[in-house]
Amino acid sequence: MGLFSKRKSGFASFLSAFIEIDEDFLEELEEKLILSDAGVETAEAAVEELRALTEKKGLQGEQIRSALADILTARLRQPGDASLRLDTKPSVILIVGVNGVGKTTTIGKLAKLLKLDGKRVLLCAADTFRAAASEQLCIWAERVGCEIIRHGEGGDPGAVVFDSCHAAKARGADVIIVDTAGRLHNKQNLMNELAKLRRIFDRELPGASVETLLVLDAATGQNGLIQAEQFSETAGITGIVLTKLDGTAKGGVVFSIADRLHVPVKFAGTGEGIDDIEPFEPRRFVEAMLS
Ligand code: GDP
Repeated sequence: MGLFSKRKSGFASFLSAFIEIDEDFLEELEEKLILSDAGVETAEAAVEELRALTEKKGLQGEQIRSALADILTARLRQPGDASLRLDTKPSVILIVGVNGVGKTTTIGKLAKLLKLDGKRVLLCAADTFRAAASEQLCIWAERVGCEIIRHGEGGDPGAVVFDSCHAAKARGADVIIVDTAGRLHNKQNLMNELAKLRRIFDRELPGASVETLLVLDAATGQNGLIQAEQFSETAGITGIVLTKLDGTAKGGVVFSIADRLHVPVKFAGTGEGIDDIEPFEPRRFVEAMLS
């Protein structure tokens, strides 16, 4: 299945309707980029770059599309590694984000990817606040065929993390994937909770690689970014998983993420199934958007 097969951006018909770059074209392009949730900053900058390039080189037809693709791809490239850093045994992947964005599903998908890669995966059900969360995670663990550490509802997430660290060492797990709460009484509580879990990992698995992936729903567009900024201020995000790219024309939010958060989008979720995840590749994303 293609990365964005179900996504309709409308860029292709727009681009093919223009043979030359004029003011109408640039104005419409800016509007289209903003509508796709690329953000005003990206839209303006991309249009300016394209204008400058046209004045220098006189772009026409297919050259316009290809120059625009280069400009947009460059804006998505982030310093830092787009792949997961899992150098230690065990390594840790903390999954954070508000409820409903696709955290649990993403954990199942990542667990399967890592398992296919020959890794022994242990899930850690540290969202003890939501009744269904650990049951959901159990279903994914069964589906993937990996182990899970869970306590009863209302238990202490820190205790689940503690047990997971010891189980991972005892059983020779390569990666612990941790589900965390998406909502507590207030933002400060949530951030304190995440910091507490992080401290337990640092204490029980000193020197372990820890990836903290923020899961964002592409369809929430610019609103999702406000969440993302709050998490990245306190939780030390190392990457983003952008879910539900299959069902939205708002995938342009990746540009705003690049502009404002300066962390790489590491994976894209493209459906509800276990295999509907792909490493995020800027060039491929832009090509899919424009074609
Ligand atoms: P959580 O509350 O963050 O753990 O979210 P869930 O993993 O329970 O997902 C919430 C809903 O989003 C479920 O119905 C999932 O099937 C759906 N979902 C998750 N990821 C994707 C995706 O990439 N594409 C689509 N279309 N649906 C998704």
